[in-house]
Amino acid sequence: MQLALTEDDQAFREEMRTFFTTTFPEEIRRTVEEGRELTREQIVESQQALNAAGLAVPHWPEEWGGRGWSELKRHIWHEEMQAASVPVPLAFNASMIGPVIAQFGTQEQKEKFLPKTANLDIWWSQGFSEPDAGSDLAGLRTTAVLDGDDWVVNGQKTWTTLGQYGDWIFTLVRTDPEVKKQAGISMLLIDMTSPGVEVRPIELIDGGHEVNEVWFTDVRVPGENLVGEVNSGWTQAKFLLGNERVGVAPVGATKRVLARAKELGASILADDPLLRARVVELENELLALELTALRVAAHSAGAEPHPASSVLKLKGTELQQAVSELVVDLGGPATLASGEGDATLEWYRRSTPTYLNLRKASIYGGSNEIQRQIISRNILGL
Ligand SMILES: Cc1cc2nc3c(=O)[nH]c(=O)nc-3n(C[C@H](O)[C@H](O)[C@H](O)COP(=O)(O)OP(=O)(O)OC[C@H]3O[C@@H](n4cnc5c(N)ncnc54)[C@H](O)[C@@H]3O)c2cc1C
Repeated sequence: MQLALTEDDQAFREEMRTFFTTTFPEEIRRTVEEGRELTREQIVESQQALNAAGLAVPHWPEEWGGRGWSELKRHIWHEEMQAASVPVPLAFNASMIGPVIAQFGTQEQKEKFLPKTANLDIWWSQGFSEPDAGSDLAGLRTTAVLDGDDWVVNGQKTWTTLGQYGDWIFTLVRTDPEVKKQAGISMLLIDMTSPGVEVRPIELIDGGHEVNEVWFTDVRVPGENLVGEVNSGWTQAKFLLGNERVGVAPVGATKRVLARAKELGASILADDPLLRARVVELENELLALELTALRVAAHSAGAEPHPASSVLKLKGTELQQAVSELVVDLGGPATLASGEGDATLEWYRRSTPTYLNLRKASIYGGSNEIQRQIISRNILGL
């Protein structure tokens, strides 16, 4: 097996590394490196810096800002970004609704939304899940009924990540209750400032406010905000969810955290062979995952993600969680400390909330139990 990059890809990697480590805003990188939370403004600034350099949406059609790169180049771009502590472009915009509008939207929708979506002038939220409609997404109950030229939407979405920042929300709504459940769903784009939209916070176990409920009461949505045909929403949802799993394995970021943990915990590791063995095992598993990511990149064709993207989601999130657990074990009581401290103590102190927060990673983006079923069916043929 030939694992070395070609000269061209090697040069590309250097180009990415140089941009991310020398041109990209330093303060944002530092915030990520130190494990501090990014503000909305920082997330917008970050994506706009990437977009200005043509690096926010390289996987989109070239007409709308894509770069026509090979899958391998996209992989390198993604890894180098994370290795340099650069936040990846907002997934709701860059990986989810952008490609859907580019593929299924009208010309008017493309012109209205795509440039602003790439530049994060519009912040999108994802309004798919509902109580009783998560893994069984087709069971969703939010309704949209045509009244003149408008859709009138009623219902509730849940787990809407960063919905408090959202300008627009892409939703799946039931437009025909009489047919098989997948056949009666449509995709609607809803302006979150519309009368009748209410965002209610959900507090998470780490104390943060990252997810929300979104309620719709007689919300009027212009007919032109329908994506694709009426009742074709399941097709767009499958397209979007396939893209959601690609790039969900944060290999570069997990490697960076593990390397930092080794550096800060050097003296503890020197005295503890069992902890050292854990580090080695994690490093090996990360290497295996990285090779899988390269395999997926090398074998993905067209819009369809390679089925092994489910392996990336599953193992990527498991390793992310395992590394966060190792950091807590290395930091010991420091991970629960309060009050001021030096940079090392600060880093450890944020690690217990991070560990708790990352329990979510095996649930969102299609829970890991569901990924196992996809792997058993589509890869192992069981
Ligand atoms: C932090 C976080 C952020 C999220 N952000 C968003 C967002 O922005 N927008 C959005 O639309 N959604 C979002 N989600 C929702 C997410 O996609 C769903 O939580 C997920 O699909 C699981 O659905 P559920 O919560 O209804 O759990 P359920 O489907 O009720 O599952 C509960 C448990 O049962 C298991 N299970 C379910 N069905 C099966 C089966 N057939 N076989 C084996 N096991 C099964 C699941 O794996 C899980 O462990 C987010 C979720 C979280 C936790």
